[in-house]
Amino acid sequence: MEKISRTKIVDVLSRSDFGTSVNVKGWVRTRRGSKQVNFVALNDGSTINNLQIVIDLAKFDEEMLKLITTGSCLSVNGTLVESVGQGQQAEIHATGIEVLGTADHQTYPLQKKGHSIEFLREIAHLRPRTNTFGAVFRIRHHMAMAIHRFFHERGFFYFHTPIITGSDCEGAGQMFQVTTMNLYDLKKDKNGSIVYEDDFFGKQTSLTVSGQLEGELAAMALGAIYTFGPTFRAENSNTPRHLAEFWMIEPEVAFNEIEENMDLAEDFIKYCVQWALDNCMDDIRFLNNMFDKELIARLEGVLKHNFVRLPYTEGIEILEKAVADGYKFEFPIFWGADLASEHERYLVEEHFKRPVILTDYPKEIKAFYMKQNEDGKTVRAMDVLFPKIGEIIGGSQREEDYEKLRTRTAEMDIPEKDIWWYLDTRRFGTAPHSGFGLGFERLLLFVTGMANIRDVIPFPRTPNNVEF
Ligand code: ATP
Ligand code: MN
Repeated sequence: MEKISRTKIVDVLSRSDFGTSVNVKGWVRTRRGSKQVNFVALNDGSTINNLQIVIDLAKFDEEMLKLITTGSCLSVNGTLVESVGQGQQAEIHATGIEVLGTADHQTYPLQKKGHSIEFLREIAHLRPRTNTFGAVFRIRHHMAMAIHRFFHERGFFYFHTPIITGSDCEGAGQMFQVTTMNLYDLKKDKNGSIVYEDDFFGKQTSLTVSGQLEGELAAMALGAIYTFGPTFRAENSNTPRHLAEFWMIEPEVAFNEIEENMDLAEDFIKYCVQWALDNCMDDIRFLNNMFDKELIARLEGVLKHNFVRLPYTEGIEILEKAVADGYKFEFPIFWGADLASEHERYLVEEHFKRPVILTDYPKEIKAFYMKQNEDGKTVRAMDVLFPKIGEIIGGSQREEDYEKLRTRTAEMDIPEKDIWWYLDTRRFGTAPHSGFGLGFERLLLFVTGMANIRDVIPFPRTPNNVEF
């Protein structure tokens, strides 16, 4: 076959220099047609749209043609022709076909359409080849780009915090331990405690649950930073919103107080949603039509309104009133309770009908580092609550007062030997500062309209699930 340099399908589809010879490579989605002419829908991942390959059967070897089945991989030379079918402007009339990889139709699991999303999870190694997951993972890429651009444009520095951590006081959930010790033969002291001196780091270590504490160190030098990396939580919560391994974005800004932190969070999410509408519309339109007819309206809706900003105490009053009026929640609600996703969604979806930033939570249900309010009961926390999701961002103004922070760590039994380096920022040139954490996959749930967080990360890690 004549050697022609490859063109991506996304580019071919928008070309109009009909009559030109081109080469495309991709995977067969469908093949149909008559005894004389066949139509192959070819996809190379560059776009959700397939390219139609028109094959005049008489011109090709019969044995080769048999190998063109769903899932097989082809290199096709052909002439670019204006398409008469609806939708697309260009198709290819094949002049040469090479089968790069066959896909036995008896065993290839992705035949045509109609596989359930749950079945596709079991074949996560092949699911990127479906329209749905192609769309989701292209959007995932675009959202990562949006995030870096947003912060870069505003003068934030991308700061890399460690994945292995020696502190277990990050305060955000159960941790996975990291060790090179022989688990079948653990050395213990006379009290039965494990001796970590011989372990790789000479002390107990874990996978990070958050880069925030190190991020704060950087903010107190570089001014404004963000992290964007994997985080790990060993919580055994089998929900559609929790993963054991997920990606988090954590900006941290010196001199920002909670109001500016809320402004940043709102601008940030709106920028990302706008970016999706500007750059991913083919994929979003597909997901809107397939799964969630209100997706586009919901994305546009978020851009239209200011987020509601509401103290926790007022949020509880609204929820208690809902209960008094006969609304049924699974979990009890009272001042001091941590909100469940059902409560968060009630505020957003039923009461305000727009995103809500809930502030000033009781200090007992929040982390030690949050700035204490004058009332002695609440802290300057801010959670951003979203339709369909509940909490998408958790953040706060940080306690900058050395004595107050030390008192709080002592109250919460955090040993000073583990946290001295963090406390040092309050000893040397302390300053007001604020930040938050956005769960990347929670953002993707919102932007794609997918219902389960396992379907917006390529290879989900959840309890009892680490295949691929
Ligand atoms: P939740 O109450 O929903 O379990 P959290 O309060 O434990 O979340 P934070 O510690 O505030 O979460 O983390 C910041 C953000 O990280 C959350 O707002 C959420 O978007 C995301 N996040 C937290 N835990 C998970 C998880 N297990 N899987 C995916 N994203 C998560
Ligand atoms: Mn939170």
